[in-house]
Amino acid sequence: MFDTSLYRGSLTLLRTTPIINWTPIQRCMLMLFMACVVHSIWLMWKLIVIFNPNFHQYVNLPFLTTSFYVNVFYICTYFGLAMICLSLVRQKNLHTLLIYICTSTFGLFLLWDAYIVGVMSPATAIVLISVIALGLLLFEAKVIYPILFLAILIIITIAHATLNGKLSYAPIFDFPGMHNSPYTNQFWCLSMLFIGLPVVTICFAMFNIFLHQWRHREASFRSLSLIDPLTKIYNRRNINQQLIEIAHKLEQQKQLCYGIIILDLDHFKRINDEYGHLIGDEVLTEVAATLQSNVRQTDILGRYGGEEFIILAKDADKHIIIQLAKRCQQSIQQLAISTDQQKYINITASFGVTVVCHNHSMRQAIKEADEAMYQAKRLGRNLIVLSD
Ligand code: GH3
Ligand code: MG
Ligand code: MG
Repeated sequence: MFDTSLYRGSLTLLRTTPIINWTPIQRCMLMLFMACVVHSIWLMWKLIVIFNPNFHQYVNLPFLTTSFYVNVFYICTYFGLAMICLSLVRQKNLHTLLIYICTSTFGLFLLWDAYIVGVMSPATAIVLISVIALGLLLFEAKVIYPILFLAILIIITIAHATLNGKLSYAPIFDFPGMHNSPYTNQFWCLSMLFIGLPVVTICFAMFNIFLHQWRHREASFRSLSLIDPLTKIYNRRNINQQLIEIAHKLEQQKQLCYGIIILDLDHFKRINDEYGHLIGDEVLTEVAATLQSNVRQTDILGRYGGEEFIILAKDADKHIIIQLAKRCQQSIQQLAISTDQQKYINITASFGVTVVCHNHSMRQAIKEADEAMYQAKRLGRNLIVLSD
């Protein structure tokens, strides 16, 4: 019976892992799969021509028939190479050699096709450019460039030999049958399309997938670099960027003020020591969530240190920012986080509050809020202190 696990595994790999993160041997198998598809389409073209006597006047039929069998041999070779790659997936020391063998076999087979349809034909140019570009995306340059160099040398040699009459040009076609004018011959033009289009389509589709996956990866890296992984709120790096932007806005807009709250959980070390770090982490997550539910959409909430949070509230005066700090203080106190021993943890925080307006130094404002928070600690904790 057909083993569907391999098929399902490939689909999962396609969906979950960007191609750029595939192992080189997986990318090599992808190349072999695409090569099989392309050669199957070319095989179809040969079959259509062989079975349609109207086209026989434009082709060298015995050569075309031979090249049909060569084409079948190519597909079998790709299939065999893919099986070898699959069976040697765990033999990592052989991967580089396998990749060189597969890519150069593909290159060599393509060169043969380039020769039989004409090294100077549009189909050859399109196929070679697309394949080299995709090759550079799939593999390291050190794999592609030697093959590219060799391919150029072989193409020049073939072109030279055909110009000197030592080799016949595009032996698959019968140019006298086209009155020596292929560019006005419908069969030749359609053949060029039939040969070139599948490769261009596959390469473009691959580029598209690459680009889509790359953009997606960029976006997730960006969000990972700006969000705190534990609490899912802004991290310190992001907050520092926001502070710079706000300072810039404050310089520009005379009426604008921001309220700043810095809060630090009280005796958090004890929570870790008594109940363990996992419970400590849960406390941090719950505190972040409750703060988030108290701030407005336009406010900025971030984790400023280990158990220290910051809130930047737009258009907030002293009154508004103290009200916000009080709401946060209450909701932190009301958090009901139970431990393994079914005890509820008493959580409180100390708050330092300040307001920064036009032409005030943001650095100074943060320092003031921090000092106010430390004063709240000194005064007994679970307090809100407004800076002078
Ligand atoms: P104070 O009231 O003076 O702020 O005392 P404190 O115990 O809260 O402050 P201290 O600075 O002594 O300890 C902070 C602790 O926070 C120490 C550190 O292990 C813990 N901490 C920092 N980041 C994390 C974290 O991500 N997860 C957990 N579980 N603990 C953390
Ligand atoms: Mg603390
Ligand atoms: Mg602290």
